[in-house]
Amino acid sequence: MTLRDWLAGCALARVDALALLRELAGVDHATVLAHPQRVLDAAARARLDAAAARLRGGEPLAYVLGWREFHGLRFQVDPAVLVPRPETELLVDFVLQRFAGNDAPALLDLGTGSGAVALSLACALPRAQVWAVDASEAALRVARANARALLPPARAPLRLLRGDWFAALPDDAPRFDCIVANPPYVAAGDPHLPALRHEPRLALVGAEPSADGLTDLRRIVRDAPAHLRRGGWLALEHGHDQARAVRTLLAARGLRDVHTLKDLAGIARVGAARLDDGAISLNNTVRNGLGRTS
Ligand code: GLN
Repeated sequence: MTLRDWLAGCALARVDALALLRELAGVDHATVLAHPQRVLDAAARARLDAAAARLRGGEPLAYVLGWREFHGLRFQVDPAVLVPRPETELLVDFVLQRFAGNDAPALLDLGTGSGAVALSLACALPRAQVWAVDASEAALRVARANARALLPPARAPLRLLRGDWFAALPDDAPRFDCIVANPPYVAAGDPHLPALRHEPRLALVGAEPSADGLTDLRRIVRDAPAHLRRGGWLALEHGHDQARAVRTLLAARGLRDVHTLKDLAGIARVGAARLDDGAISLNNTVRNGLGRTS
């Protein structure tokens, strides 16, 4: 079978079909355009057909390939972890804007999954102490594999802990300069859930699915102040219709400088606020480019 015939018959979006050809048959886009008559060998064809069937069954391309790029790094993924989404890079950028330079901030990523956020931070901020928590042992195995693959050997290791949000932290954990989370926030009856059926339900709706999807966001906001340094930031990813609710939770918990960040699609996606440090206002923070004040 030729490349052209396989593409014509695979019943996939072209971008997915080209990704399979590149990853599973070593055939790049230029070759497809220049040599459409090239013949696929039987082994490559079998790999392509099996992968195409999985994609047609609704599995995410990232699971079929076993990896997804996030913040410029390649993360191993499997169905134990949510596929890292581009909008979640906003959490990473939020932290980098505040802690670039020679700082050695203590950072915590709650619900780390594949480790995408925590490891992006650890790679970009070589002196940061990065802690990461997940409830799922299978997810932590994926995060550990990514840590081995991505962290330079000389770098301090990621502290990966299993447990229920802050309860996973040992007594000697530091107070953090910044806590970030992409927690489960999909509402129990959300119409998008069927399309997300291959991804872990625990990562999408949480252990206690609720009508507003806010259960875990509430718990994190409630408990975060006890784990933040004075002036330390909390940044939480949320659903497209949860920005106001998250700002309300942050303000009601007494946090300062409550605001919402939009993702690249223009959707309100991250709620951020910080523990009072007794002195500096958001205006100073923005002018100095500093989030860390203690
Ligand atoms: N952004 C994901 C989605 O709706 C959900 C991620 C989450 O619940 N944390 O596809």
